[in-house]
Amino acid sequence: MNYELIRKDFPILTKTIYGKYPLVYLDNAATTQKPRQVVEAMTEEYYNVNANVHRGVHFLSQQATELHEGSRETVRKFLNARSASEIVFTRGTTESINLVAQCFSDAFMKEGDEVIVSEMEHHSNIVSWQLQQQRKGIRLRVIPITDDGQLRLDEYEKLFTDRTRIVSVTHVSNVLGTVNPVKEIIRIAHEHGIPVLIDGAQSTPHMKVDVQELDCDFFAFSGHKIYGPTGIGVLYGKEEMLEKLPPYMGGGEMIKNVTFERTTFNELPFKFEAGTPDYVASTGLARALDYVSSVGLDAIEAYERDLTAYAIQRMGEIEDMKIFGPADVSIHDAVISFQVGNIHHLDMGTLLDRLGIAVRTGHHCAEPLMHRLGIEGTCRASFAMYNTREEVDALVAAIKRVRQMF
Ligand code: PLP
Repeated sequence: MNYELIRKDFPILTKTIYGKYPLVYLDNAATTQKPRQVVEAMTEEYYNVNANVHRGVHFLSQQATELHEGSRETVRKFLNARSASEIVFTRGTTESINLVAQCFSDAFMKEGDEVIVSEMEHHSNIVSWQLQQQRKGIRLRVIPITDDGQLRLDEYEKLFTDRTRIVSVTHVSNVLGTVNPVKEIIRIAHEHGIPVLIDGAQSTPHMKVDVQELDCDFFAFSGHKIYGPTGIGVLYGKEEMLEKLPPYMGGGEMIKNVTFERTTFNELPFKFEAGTPDYVASTGLARALDYVSSVGLDAIEAYERDLTAYAIQRMGEIEDMKIFGPADVSIHDAVISFQVGNIHHLDMGTLLDRLGIAVRTGHHCAEPLMHRLGIEGTCRASFAMYNTREEVDALVAAIKRVRQMF
């Protein structure tokens, strides 16, 4: 993988921050930077194609519709879904999970029924279910983690009861970098006849995902975390599952016929896509997926795993350094949460910023995980395919400088 060539496609990476290095951007788990190919495709569409999609008889509307539905097909191929009708465009992972939590619990859950989540979930995969707890009295059961941030599969198996209705877990932790054994998690759930939603926000940018191979029932991810635009994401659902769910929101696009007495709903996936979709963002997302596919996810994964292992090793040289998550780099994805002595994560992050290095600080939308780890927050460096060993060296040098200041 030629990261030098790749970096040329990301103009923002040449930006100088506070007159320091060119930007060292290590906040990719929050959002990735965008290559020219994505931004230019979206600009081109706004300038030359823009028209509302579906049911338009005029030229531009048909062209915009072709682009939008072509993008759906690109997503289908990217995930290896069986059919484009299994690909629902949403605003992102959060909306995808909320859609499943609401529609699935409406269709299949009553008071006292249970969803299994894990201790390392992002708030979006906790609060969406808690809203259903309030609406319908469903209950959350939680898979605990080991001290080095792995799911306790032995405990997971014990959580199944005759009230379990769905399992909803993350593929990769946005705090610990843990790559969860989701195939095994899905297999076990299916043995109990229970469907599984996988939160793929942190896996899709870094590894090949094949939804048929995983056999997951639902899979969610966000465009902006995989070099695409903000405001668009995907919910994959097995057709037979999506068919059984009621619509999420009401409005245009999602209906077949409307009278004041009765409305019939559109076919998949439009039943879940009320209102004008972000058809320009879907183009941006498709170009981002094309970009990732042209580099190759196997090459990206190998490169980033090597970079992460290098970073863990180099950061380990720093006195008082604590790195969270699995020590085994084969299951530690491109996210490193750390803490140095008793330097507050906010102080560390702010000073690193002054040295030109962007990391994230805080609870990373995973407060229950912070409670489990007995901390308030961490500093988090997260990598993308354009990051380099030189940037890791710059991070290490900057952390050492900050440490000396305290
Ligand atoms: N799930 C995980 C694991 C995440 O890391 C994130 C974002 O950080 C989300 C869900 C929510 O993604 P979005 O804000 O794009 O909806």
